[in-house]
Amino acid sequence: MKSWISRPVPELPGSLPPLHLFDTALGRVVELEPQEEQSMYVCGITPYDATHMGHAASYVAFDLLNRAWRDAGTRVAYVQNVTDVDDPLLERAQATGVDWRELAASQIELFHTDMDALNVLAPDHYIGAVEAIPEIVPAIEKLIADGVAYRVPGTKGEPDGDVYYDVELAGKQSSATDAWTLGDVSGLGESEMLALFAERGGDPDRPGKRQALDPLLWRVAREGEPSWPGASLGDGRPGWHIECTVIAQKYLPAPFTVQGGGSDLVFPHHEMGAGHAYSLSHVPLARHYAHAGMVGLDGEKMSKSKGNLVLVSKLRAEGEEPAAIRLAILAHHYRSDWSWTAEDFAAAKERLAVWREAAAKAPAASAGPLVAAMRSELANDLNAPGAVAAVDHWAQAALAAEGGETSATDGALVSDAVNALLGVEL
Ligand code: ZN
Repeated sequence: MKSWISRPVPELPGSLPPLHLFDTALGRVVELEPQEEQSMYVCGITPYDATHMGHAASYVAFDLLNRAWRDAGTRVAYVQNVTDVDDPLLERAQATGVDWRELAASQIELFHTDMDALNVLAPDHYIGAVEAIPEIVPAIEKLIADGVAYRVPGTKGEPDGDVYYDVELAGKQSSATDAWTLGDVSGLGESEMLALFAERGGDPDRPGKRQALDPLLWRVAREGEPSWPGASLGDGRPGWHIECTVIAQKYLPAPFTVQGGGSDLVFPHHEMGAGHAYSLSHVPLARHYAHAGMVGLDGEKMSKSKGNLVLVSKLRAEGEEPAAIRLAILAHHYRSDWSWTAEDFAAAKERLAVWREAAAKAPAASAGPLVAAMRSELANDLNAPGAVAAVDHWAQAALAAEGGETSATDGALVSDAVNALLGVEL
């Protein structure tokens, strides 16, 4: 599927020091192993609704990682999916009387426009679930043949043949130290897993499943639902976790460097994806798992049902500058849960204006130390608030030094650094 077009990233002299990142599975900050090419998979949207601030913050977080790697002189292979067929999309299409394909296409288009506006670098491969079905089907057939997936008989109006992943047998496939067992990524206990599974699209009570936590791999065709040829599986459509696993395995090395997403994807999505990948290849899916915090509005959880979504497209339509939206996001550490407020957004707009004014009055020889300070903050678990504070500090000094020697070269370097490292265009 077509992606959006990245804006150019200015090249800076020097490079970022070794990068440290919090690994969810290990529960601590780790130094990322240097590689000639780093690789990243960030789970994409299910296109039934416009990009809200939580999505934006998550993609901006992993954009910081992408930019940090590039600044360190490393090539980056970046893949993102779009779940262009799934229950929430079909339900929304039905509820609003829109064809699901049209709904998906319009929301994907809007998402791309939002990402472009926020200066998020585009993935190298942007892959839809539907276009990946020809690869997903043989992967599920292999899991069945290997005994870690099974068909559930029809019950209570459900047809025969939905395929599920056996989390218990899958966890016993290998005694290798890097083998996956349930809980390796999330570190959660069974009762926490059960609660989240039910809350996040799982079906713990589906009759005929071996374990309540077994996730769906293939949903056979139902009346009124779209379906695709599934060879020996029968017509149907794939589950969400296997979709990401198969796309990541096709387009990235095994293991790739970082599996990213919002913290609501830790379980079951990333947990199950790690299991599927190990079952398919006997190699871990990713070396590291990284997650961005959740964004609320004025202290409340942001959700469609509460009607309190802050939409990037709506702010843009109101004439707000995307660079200011991005700067408001960067004032919060990517791992923290935070709330969007009008006051913080006003502060971000003010900050952007101050930075622009200061860039035109940059003191001579001031840019080098600032770039070093920004890099040092970003190398420390992508500490954007620290990098923002460093620019603030520099800007205050620049504006206070009225009448001193200014340097257009330093101003240009600061602008380039703020763009290259933070993705904010001055
Ligand atoms: Zn995913």
